Amino acid sequence: MKKSYLIILTAIAFFTIWACSTNPLTGRQSLSLVSNAQLFPQSFAQYNQVLKDNKVDKTSANAQMIDRVGQRIKYAAEKYYSQIGRGSDLKDYQWEFSLIQSDQLNAWCMPGGKVAFYTGILPVCKDDGGVAVVMGHEVAHALAGHSAEQVSNAMVAQGLMVGGNVAISNAQWRDTFNQLYPVGAGLTMLKYGRGMELDADEAGLYLMAMAGYNPMEAISFWERMNNATSGQQTPPEFLSTHPNPGNRIAQLKSIMPKAMEYYNQSPYKGK
Ligand SMILES: [Zn+2]
Repeated sequence: MKKSYLIILTAIAFFTIWACSTNPLTGRQSLSLVSNAQLFPQSFAQYNQVLKDNKVDKTSANAQMIDRVGQRIKYAAEKYYSQIGRGSDLKDYQWEFSLIQSDQLNAWCMPGGKVAFYTGILPVCKDDGGVAVVMGHEVAHALAGHSAEQVSNAMVAQGLMVGGNVAISNAQWRDTFNQLYPVGAGLTMLKYGRGMELDADEAGLYLMAMAGYNPMEAISFWERMNNATSGQQTPPEFLSTHPNPGNRIAQLKSIMPKAMEYYNQSPYKGK
């Protein structure tokens, strides 16, 4: 009896280790029961649908700014991942940076590097540095597998896990994904937990610094965001699960010295 109990405990421990992924930028661990191979095709299809259903600005100076900053953040991520021997983590990414015409104050990155900014967030971003704050944060959510974590949590909650495997048909899988990403309908997005938000803030700050954007810009960006939204009764989607600006700025200041080191070493610094 005791022996079988021990075997079960060992199995659970192994399973938990196997099912956890570590954010290489922050060290935070998360539950991951779904693979990129399962997640990315759904994500790419949804993204294409969003681009089809909305007005996409492809040529303006603002659209060029989104792409320019996105390419630099992508470059920084690829360089860092290959330096730490995890370059293969990013091999199935299909990066894309789009600007959607919408008053919503929002931006997101779907699994596999599919990014959208809405024109409504641009006045708060102001310039490349401000865009880099948001870009770094959203790309960090994707790199850290926060979506996979949310999908995994939803599958566990829905009882779709059997003996450590995801026992799920293609249709169930698609439904789960669509519940989490109802982007086609109302352009709402997956809500992340606060732990994930602070994790993305930290990893995002390092990414923007590695890409040569002054990380101090993040403090001014969140102050502008606070001013832009403080009078509103319902916070915009982008902020609905986010930590309060005071906490967020305090955390950013505490990790600023490490971010400044990345910034000072970046080949893009000052460009
Ligand atoms: Zn976030």
